[in-house]
Amino acid sequence: MTMTAPLWFDPACMLIRGAWRTAADTLQLINPSDGTDLANIARGGAADIDAAVVAAHDARAGAWGRMTATERGRILTEIGRKVLERVEDLATLEAMDVGKPLSQARADAMALARYMEFYGGAADKVMGETIPYLDGYTVYTLREPHGVTGHIVPWNYPMQIIGRSVGASLAMGNACVLKPAEEACLTALAFAHIAADAGLPDGALNVVPGLGSEAGAALAAHPGVQHISFTGSVRTGALVQQAAGANVVPVTLELGGKSPQLVFDDADIDAALPFLVNAGIQNAGQTCSASSRILVQRGAYGEVRDRMAAEYADLTVGPALDDLRVGPLISKRQQEIVQGFLTQGSDLTIAAQGHPQNAPETGAYVLPTLFDNVPPDHALARDEIFGPVQVLIPFDTEEDALRIANGTDYGLVASVWTREGARQMRLSKGLRAGQVFINNYGAGGGVELPFGGVGKSGHGREKGFQALYGFSTLKTVATHHG
Ligand code: NAD
Repeated sequence: MTMTAPLWFDPACMLIRGAWRTAADTLQLINPSDGTDLANIARGGAADIDAAVVAAHDARAGAWGRMTATERGRILTEIGRKVLERVEDLATLEAMDVGKPLSQARADAMALARYMEFYGGAADKVMGETIPYLDGYTVYTLREPHGVTGHIVPWNYPMQIIGRSVGASLAMGNACVLKPAEEACLTALAFAHIAADAGLPDGALNVVPGLGSEAGAALAAHPGVQHISFTGSVRTGALVQQAAGANVVPVTLELGGKSPQLVFDDADIDAALPFLVNAGIQNAGQTCSASSRILVQRGAYGEVRDRMAAEYADLTVGPALDDLRVGPLISKRQQEIVQGFLTQGSDLTIAAQGHPQNAPETGAYVLPTLFDNVPPDHALARDEIFGPVQVLIPFDTEEDALRIANGTDYGLVASVWTREGARQMRLSKGLRAGQVFINNYGAGGGVELPFGGVGKSGHGREKGFQALYGFSTLKTVATHHG
């Protein structure tokens, strides 16, 4: 069945200074569920990025820059309300564009609304402090916006990542230039339309779709950009940091991971099981915080493997709008990358795989695959796969578990399943990760929870209140009054 996307706007335009403009050239979006053409989008370039950065500076100097924090918060809250009105349209667009099963896309649209509510409410609650100093002085700090912020967004969670980075940045009073991914950018454009309808002043948010090597690189290197927020691969993140470094501009990098869940013999396996599997196959494993390593203590290993394998055998894979547990990957290119990893695992034992259900050959499908008894130094246990693939790794002692868990270049998320309180405390400190969950995983996305990594998972924190500090700079004012 071919279905047309619910487009209520022209997808081939970019938004600069409140005006929707066509680009000199376009790019083709593909529906990964069946390989059909979905829409043409603008192929923005360096000149468009430049115009967007100038427009953002003008917005800061104009109506947007003059608004009080309360007024900014009201606009963000109104954007959230309008997002909620369009949840079904946004979810359908995202499902068709990203290949994400419809109910997962709906959850992302709800999260986008929630980010706007959260940052709408937070906008006027960021305060400085007074600092005791020398006699005759009064010292206080001011939190001020950076100015113009650049947002380079990947294709895996466009709505959630726009919510957490653009939402927090606007709340602090910055003006934004957003470069969505060339593989999936319909909800970025839809969001910009909704934001304009909600009263966001012209130029406060500019959206320039295009290739990473063109529009993305131009944004990262633009001397008029005062902060860059990037989510994506380690390789591109390093390039973005280098480009921003040339202008001495701060960056927030969120670069994925190889996040482990540690299951001890005393764990409540009934409670753990849905998290163990879902954290690996959600969005077909194309999640920066996917849990791709399941470390299980020897006494529980057989039971956990068998029960996970039973769940894997039930996983169905098919078109996003059929809303099965697993949809296609974003593209044929990503399918090839993940198939390459499966080939690298041909020396390993497969515990179980899911099965296709009406999945056309022309789609970018990969069967979810659970590998048994994987050595911790195997490529599948070390490298980020970004597909629906999990490895089971047995361990004996808590020390072994910690060494294996901390034994990759990444450190984004980790979880521990145990009833023993002292072990929970030890591991929450010992695990090298930006977030540690005890007896849960991911906590449903956690708009309120600071998120980001260590090591090759990146640096800086988004989500929660912390993001507001990242999207602002601190000024210290010392007054000598005698
Ligand atoms: P990517 O990092 O190249 O792309 C992410 C974003 O960066 C896109 O908007 C892209 O247009 C832009 N970009 C690309 N080159 C750029 C450049 N030179 N300068 C500035 N911006 C640039 O990722 P990809 O090629 O789409 O995916 C490859 C791998 O990256 C995946 O297999 C996965 O391992 C990883 N990835 C991670 C995340 C995450 O959430 N951490 C998201 C997407 C991809």
